[in-house]
Amino acid sequence: MPLILGCIADDLTGATDLANTLARRGMSVVQTIGVPTPGTALPDAEAIVVALKSRTILAKEAVALSLQACRWLKTAGARQFYFKYCSTFDSTDQGNIGPVADALVEELDAGLTTVCPAFPETGRTIYLGHLFVGNLLLSDSPMQHHPLTPMKDANLVRVLSRQTRARVDLVPITTVKQGASSISASFGYLTRKLVRYAVVDAIEDEDLMTLGAACAEMKLVTGGSGAAIGLPENFRQAGLIPKRDAVAPLEAVGGLGAVVAGSSSQATMGQVAAFRAQHPALALDPLKLAGNLEREVAAVLDWAKPKLAGGPVLIHAGGTPQAVKAVQDKLGRERAGELVEQALAAIAQGLVAAGVRRLVVAGGETSGAVVQGLGLKALQIGPQIDPGVPACLAIGTPRMALALKSGNFGQEDFFMKALDMLR
Ligand code: ADP
Repeated sequence: MPLILGCIADDLTGATDLANTLARRGMSVVQTIGVPTPGTALPDAEAIVVALKSRTILAKEAVALSLQACRWLKTAGARQFYFKYCSTFDSTDQGNIGPVADALVEELDAGLTTVCPAFPETGRTIYLGHLFVGNLLLSDSPMQHHPLTPMKDANLVRVLSRQTRARVDLVPITTVKQGASSISASFGYLTRKLVRYAVVDAIEDEDLMTLGAACAEMKLVTGGSGAAIGLPENFRQAGLIPKRDAVAPLEAVGGLGAVVAGSSSQATMGQVAAFRAQHPALALDPLKLAGNLEREVAAVLDWAKPKLAGGPVLIHAGGTPQAVKAVQDKLGRERAGELVEQALAAIAQGLVAAGVRRLVVAGGETSGAVVQGLGLKALQIGPQIDPGVPACLAIGTPRMALALKSGNFGQEDFFMKALDMLR
């Protein structure tokens, strides 16, 4: 089974989200945690998603990592490439979407590429270049308060133009609705105008399918997970992949269950509240972590371990925007985030050592830290739990099932639903 699509995702839950999208449309998908080191044994797959943790690191480092991933995928035989970022375009004026996309375009000699974070299934739509979250402009949504990448501008052409010197322009919804050949014609026109990035409107899945068809010959496609939904059909029509039914269920793992949540996104806070009402839960205090991280982690594990046999437990950080801001004002935004991530990664390690084999993680950065802490190298992608979040099985050791959830994803009962599905 030859590799067809090589994907680079800027965080771990974004990667699983993309892997889920491709798997649901009939591709066999493996997700790697970071760029595989030489000698890493991976099952054959038609799509490989390399999950980086490059969304909020320095732009220079994000570029270096992304290029390393791109070169690995090239060597592995990928013929088309996908750069995946968040459906809320999480970034700052320094990047990292612009600088990474610039580097990939140059590495692949790709010419024009798309920019389309739309994911209608979860309410992310783009109209005249403006990104909406549900019925709110991105800049009016809770994303304006994100701890690491506060999004205060919804105009994607403007946002991306601050991150790159290359030209950015728009393919409006009227063109998209006219079909793939109109989008292609628009791509041709923009290429002649020396535009590198075409922000493409999309308000429903059909628009993304149309966009996918228009991207059949594009070397590099960039977008959220949604913009990938049309690509498998291109490969099928080209005879590169067979027609397949739904994703096969994962092998059962059983074992104890736990949830760690580092996200303060609105959806996660609702899930934390719903879980707390029925199961043991403990909130981390970042200021105490700053005092003595090891002691706090040990105390949390002492609290959690005796409870595990009776059912799943939750350890969470997060809080209201005001509470998070108060902590950030005292510790600095980066240090606060790092402390919480380090603590949750150490807690997850302790939980797995205590027999947890079904682990739900909430938060993109948090998932990256936890999976790195657990030393996981690759994941097999199973059926979807909620839009954007598949059940995953760790390839190698420890043999365990995971759900890695971007902060804003999932229904209110997500934690219990996921733990049940991972069984
Ligand atoms: P999401 O997917 O919602 O963006 P992430 O895990 O990616 O969630 O990001 C949340 C960030 O906020 C992490 O770096 C986390 O460590 C940090 N964080 C969580 N709780 C707090 C808190 N109470 N104070 C400061 N930072 C926090």
